Amino acid sequence: MRVHHLNCGSFSSALIGRLVCHVLACETDAGIVLVDSGFGKADVADPTGCVGRYSNLMGARFRESETAVRRLEKLGLNPADVTHIVATHLDFDHIGGVADFPNATLHTTAAERTAWEGRSSFREKVRYRPAQLTPAPTVHTYSGPGESVLGFSDTYPIAGVGDRIVLVPLPGHTRGHAAVAVDTGETGWLLHAGDAFYHRSTVAAPGQVSPGTEGRALRVMEELIAVDRSKIRGNHRRLRELNNQEAPRVRVFSAHDPTLFEELAGERG
Ligand SMILES: [Zn+2]
Repeated sequence: MRVHHLNCGSFSSALIGRLVCHVLACETDAGIVLVDSGFGKADVADPTGCVGRYSNLMGARFRESETAVRRLEKLGLNPADVTHIVATHLDFDHIGGVADFPNATLHTTAAERTAWEGRSSFREKVRYRPAQLTPAPTVHTYSGPGESVLGFSDTYPIAGVGDRIVLVPLPGHTRGHAAVAVDTGETGWLLHAGDAFYHRSTVAAPGQVSPGTEGRALRVMEELIAVDRSKIRGNHRRLRELNNQEAPRVRVFSAHDPTLFEELAGERG
């Protein structure tokens, strides 16, 4: 399976440094499957209306050239071939691009869809933006008993795609947050951990990568944004183990770490 690593959104501020929105475009037999979608064209045209004022606090930068639809065109791929978008969660910096692919099915956990529809707290009103899923896309949700993959129980192969792209629930950042595991074949497993962690030092072997000022600031931000702090700490431990195991080799990365993005994007040329 050919997998492209796309940066579909940028943040920049003195406190947290530079962040990306890491999106995967997987060329499968069932068409192009995106993992997350970053910001979309409507967000670029009207950031306040689509995303709200709070994105300014994190230093969001809106550029049409970074949207998934433009990134795919630049690669010579046809955006009309995008058939499925698998979301790690429904925060505004992950699903802005969905509206640019009106024929694609959006996949998420049932818990995340319920949280998005309810928007029952101030935190959820800020993070979940109704304008981004208007008009409503076709949505496929997942819950209940699932399959075991990479040591995780109750994971879900993506309907219509097959068992090489798998939704791995990791709640904590949001109520229905999930990672997405991709079996690339020749280059092993990728695990897009979404916002289950932010900075690469979180999943590095102990002592290997210093968090620095930015990593420490991001850790504080994670705790402030999370709906369940004890769960995100448990997710950190599990992802660190997975990232450092010998076999099978799993490349674990977050949505926003620019160094992990550049390493993986560089490997694929
Ligand atoms: Zn995010």
